[in-house]
Amino acid sequence: MRSIHSRVPATLLSCCAVATLGAAGGAPAATTAAAPEAVATQLRDAATAGHNIAYQWVSELTTRFGPRPAGSVNERQAAEWAAARFKALGFENVRIESFPVTAWVRGTDSARISAPLAQPLVVAALGESPPTPAAGLEGEVVMYPSLTALKAAAAGTLTGKIALVTRHMVRTQDGEGYSAAVDARVDGPAEAARHGAIAFMLRSVGTDSHRLPHTGTTGYTDGKVPIPAFALSPPDAEQIERLAALGESVRVHLNSSASYVHDAHSQNVIGEVRGRERPEEVVLLGAHLDSWDQGTGAVDDGTGTAIITAAAKLIRDADHRPRRTVRVVLYGSEEVAQPGPPGGAFGGHAYADHHKAELAQHVLAGESDTGADRVYQLTVPPAVSDGEFAQMALRVLTPIGILAAARPSRDFGTDVDPSVEAGVPGFALAQDASRYFDIHHTPDDTLDKVDRAQLDQNVAAWAAFVWLAADSDVDFRAHPTAPGH
Ligand SMILES: [Zn+2]
Repeated sequence: MRSIHSRVPATLLSCCAVATLGAAGGAPAATTAAAPEAVATQLRDAATAGHNIAYQWVSELTTRFGPRPAGSVNERQAAEWAAARFKALGFENVRIESFPVTAWVRGTDSARISAPLAQPLVVAALGESPPTPAAGLEGEVVMYPSLTALKAAAAGTLTGKIALVTRHMVRTQDGEGYSAAVDARVDGPAEAARHGAIAFMLRSVGTDSHRLPHTGTTGYTDGKVPIPAFALSPPDAEQIERLAALGESVRVHLNSSASYVHDAHSQNVIGEVRGRERPEEVVLLGAHLDSWDQGTGAVDDGTGTAIITAAAKLIRDADHRPRRTVRVVLYGSEEVAQPGPPGGAFGGHAYADHHKAELAQHVLAGESDTGADRVYQLTVPPAVSDGEFAQMALRVLTPIGILAAARPSRDFGTDVDPSVEAGVPGFALAQDASRYFDIHHTPDDTLDKVDRAQLDQNVAAWAAFVWLAADSDVDFRAHPTAPGH
């Protein structure tokens, strides 16, 4: 659509060429395919050495398009750019699949303590949250240590008041602290409304102590968020807690001019490296192209799109194709994903619906959506966790710091979960989430946070593992004790 799509920088095309993948030991490329483990090892080493396009991809994506909220012009133009790049990188069957969404537009948001004395607060309206009246709204704050405590509040406790959930998020390597705290963001507004509240606030779900609140999606009731809802930066939440502890009744004034665009569209971008023997069998690689509106969506999830695209490009440039097809899907509208209808129109559902007939031949699916810090753990489907495939994968991945997961996983990522729920086996290359939730969903999610060495390690892990899966004929669905295994 614009001239930016017509030319691809030489770096994006050439930096990832991998020399002499045909055979180990410097011998000339043979006509027969090299052993999968040898190719995977060479892809790993090329990516680790920086011969991959991931950093250029995320740099250009976040610089050209900035934030990419679901249903926005920025998201659509980023998708058109990505499709053009896919073609220039040599991917096949490149297409954009659109689906309708209701876009949410933040407008302006602000807050202040209005009594006992005026003090400014730093807030961010939660995604899909309705606006306040133009003059704002004001009420007494009632605090709860958790969503559970809010749910247990007596009927009528919050009539005309503002609920505040003060729960802290715990920093962990596996991101479990997020899962434990995010329920208040998703279900808090509806619970507060049920108790008569005029607005909902929570200590923002993050591990930082900056005055940068973390936005994020909230749950719908009957298709909409019932009352205005805000994330409060951690120091601001603590300020209110201390004031209340001094015996003061705290009143807060909230303002949001959020709005909706009901006839918007989002889209999934798809490209493939076609398999040489079983092209109908698909290894699915997912990440999401949309982002929240305040930063530039660098670590959530620009880097994910960069990692899987760079891995597929390394596979594309190997001396021979893998047996199976590698399909890259850059999903749209992930951030506003809701668990089930209504409001379930997001890229993961759109893909699983549109490709329902093909899912039986999707042999494996995985997603990169926890930033760009190093991969530390591999999870494979239970069917293969004790077999030669897993051992081979770990021989290739352990030298770059990746160990086997102790337990099977059921959560492979918001984008691919609808496909996994439809029966596609999932794999996970779990990333170190220790610092991810300092910046996720904040204005601070920008390119400078990306550690290039760790980004390269991610590409190495994805390229090597996906090569092994795609160049195999392993049945990841099979039960480990089934005949023939
Ligand atoms: Zn994400």
